[in-house]
Amino acid sequence: MASMDLKSQIIGLVKLQELDSEIYALGNERATKPQEIKAIEAAFELRKRDLATLEKKSLDLQKQRKEKELELATNAEGVKKLSGQLFSLKTNKEFQIMQQQIADLKADGAVIEEKILIFFEESDKIKAQIDSENLKLKEEEKIFLQQKKAIESRSEEITDRLSQLDAQRKQIIPGMDAKRLQDYEKILHSRDGLAIVAVKDNSCGGCHMLVPPQVINLIRMYEHIITCEVCNRILYIKE
Ligand SMILES: [Zn+2]
Repeated sequence: MASMDLKSQIIGLVKLQELDSEIYALGNERATKPQEIKAIEAAFELRKRDLATLEKKSLDLQKQRKEKELELATNAEGVKKLSGQLFSLKTNKEFQIMQQQIADLKADGAVIEEKILIFFEESDKIKAQIDSENLKLKEEEKIFLQQKKAIESRSEEITDRLSQLDAQRKQIIPGMDAKRLQDYEKILHSRDGLAIVAVKDNSCGGCHMLVPPQVINLIRMYEHIITCEVCNRILYIKE
């Protein structure tokens, strides 16, 4: 009778192990989800920063252009002022000097105008870049949100499945011997969620080390719980 009892306990543990293997795998999978979300969020944030850099560059160009426009206005005023004074001068020499000053100022003005044009051209290029980045980013945001949603719904799916598995576990546990269950769970936690393994081709299904024939005989007798000498997992024979 005692041996029959152990056999039924082992059958119970094998059933538990099926549930626990899934529970472990799902738990591990769910644990990676927050990190996955963080990774795609960080990648998307980085892309947004690229756009912000372009926008900053565009503002800088506008600022630089406005400074040049002010400079140009000051330059034009200078030309106007000197031109007004030109005919009140008394000597030819003074006249020539001032004419030269006006010509120099006008030359400076031309250089400033040239720079303003370049700023305009650069601004146009950057604005076009910003527009195309904006479009791309909108697409990327859609993909990012879809990916995030997929990860979140997988997480929820896992949570639902885990509560189903937990309910199934609770149905098996009352039929189990408390001490055996405790031993099983101890091995389960120390051996990565795998506590009871079938002997296959004379080796342990957990660590694959050879199980000697006399140990296999002991397992078949169902008098004691037999564990693998190497990995300490409970061994059983599939019938
Ligand atoms: Zn083993």
